[in-house]
Amino acid sequence: MTKFTGKGVYGAVAVGKISVFKRQDIQVKRIRIEDTQAEIARFEAAKEKTISQLKDIYDMALKEVGEANAQIFEIHMMMVEDDDYNAAIAEMINGQKVNAEYAVAVIADNFAEMFSSMDDSYMQARATDVRDISNRIIACMSEQKDNNSFSDEKVIICADDLAPSETVSLDKEKVLAFVTAHGSSNSHTAILARNMNIPAIIGVGDEFLSQINDGDMAVADGFSGELIVNPDEELLSEYRQKQLDESEKKALLQKLKGKENVTLDGRRIDIYANIGSVDNIGAVLLNDAGGIGLFRSEFLYLENSDYPTEDMQFMAYRKVLESMPAKKVIIRTLDIGADKQADYFRLDKEENPALGLRAIRLCLSRPEIFRTQLRALYRASVYGRLGIMFPMITSVSELEKVLALCRQVKSELDSENIEYSENIELGIMIETPAAAIISDKLAPMVDFFSVGTNDLTQYTLACDRQNPQVEPFCDTHHEAILRLIEISAANAHKHGIWIGICGELAADTSLTETFLRIGIDELSVSPSFVLRLRDNVRKINLSE
Ligand code: PEP
Ligand code: MG
Repeated sequence: MTKFTGKGVYGAVAVGKISVFKRQDIQVKRIRIEDTQAEIARFEAAKEKTISQLKDIYDMALKEVGEANAQIFEIHMMMVEDDDYNAAIAEMINGQKVNAEYAVAVIADNFAEMFSSMDDSYMQARATDVRDISNRIIACMSEQKDNNSFSDEKVIICADDLAPSETVSLDKEKVLAFVTAHGSSNSHTAILARNMNIPAIIGVGDEFLSQINDGDMAVADGFSGELIVNPDEELLSEYRQKQLDESEKKALLQKLKGKENVTLDGRRIDIYANIGSVDNIGAVLLNDAGGIGLFRSEFLYLENSDYPTEDMQFMAYRKVLESMPAKKVIIRTLDIGADKQADYFRLDKEENPALGLRAIRLCLSRPEIFRTQLRALYRASVYGRLGIMFPMITSVSELEKVLALCRQVKSELDSENIEYSENIELGIMIETPAAAIISDKLAPMVDFFSVGTNDLTQYTLACDRQNPQVEPFCDTHHEAILRLIEISAANAHKHGIWIGICGELAADTSLTETFLRIGIDELSVSPSFVLRLRDNVRKINLSE
């Protein structure tokens, strides 16, 4: 029995045989060519075939992982057609009289190195893409076949790394999990895995591939990030039992669909879902969430290489609202900075980024960015029941500035004869101790509060949420945090507004009863937690 540890990027367990991913082994030789025109024609034909393959992959990705994630293959198609890339290959074939495969391989290396040496991390990531498309063109010329034909048995795919096109091309029906030596949790491949609901472990390290074989029995634990190869019978049956328990639990929970979130003594609570992308709507609907309590809009910015335009944002917000007819959708305005960085914002490096220019502070410092987002939100508001929520509020004057900007956007839209809803709820996140303490002053200014316990914990206990070393000091049940929530709830109700919790603590079922007793009206959790929480609420009796 051998154990390898990486990082789990999708929590689920798989038990099955290993299949080592065999990348097409393309041996490119330099061959002298006399008829360069015929060679260029061969390259053009391979390019056409590549584009057609990429179109198929794009369609497959669109179905499997949604538009935002499928976009990478549109970028690949654009790269295949790129003038500079094509001119450089043709020039090499003509000038050096070499075969097309060799020219593509050399130019791909040059482009990849150029991308890797750029400062911008988005451009650096394009190095993998240019290699990916070039290998595909070479494979088309060499007529190489896919040598990853799996048997009918489902397998755990193990690879050094997987390019996005390879991940999405894997036959999902035959893949139990995948494990890679390299990769980061924000790579496109990890994002695709999460959205495909495939248990995945990344960054296991180079040595693991030399120690495993096709057909080895293994357990891939996406929760702990462990790959256990050739587990003993005891461990194997433990994991099989774990899988059975998980699927039984899931099946039982499905029976709660359509049921109310009501305690035994009749107290009702809203259970909403947290999302980071339009593509997560499927999971929200599947798990019967009553609404969306937190749409982390910054992911729209993080997925792009430049500021998303007003129209781009409008389309995304409209889609979410239309997918949730008659249900509340709370979109949080841009919360970038600290751990969420996009190069094109060109933010200065900060000593203490969590205490720095993030979220609402950034929006107030760069009102043009904020204004674009607010315009998109107001325009989308006619397509559903929109709530707009502002992160990282610490003072009344900050909130006054935010609300003034909202009024300004409304009068701009009025003068342009653009429609917006008059029933948008405006709310703030309670995620700083300051906001909780002055919640009596903030409550009359808004329609709701939503407690961001992830940041509220970090700022109350002075524990950097990014630093694993301080985790032992970070008691999420600390009395100080519960008291701050209680103060905020009392002030919310005193002023007739509702209060929810959208941080991770909302899913902590050991606190659900406490939250209900404090008077929390809404809990917003990951879609897969909605039914578990409903189950918990329905077993609570507040009259005891
Ligand atoms: C929070 O801080 O609890 C929260 C929900 O926001 P985020 O995790 O995105 O900072
Ligand atoms: Mg937060």
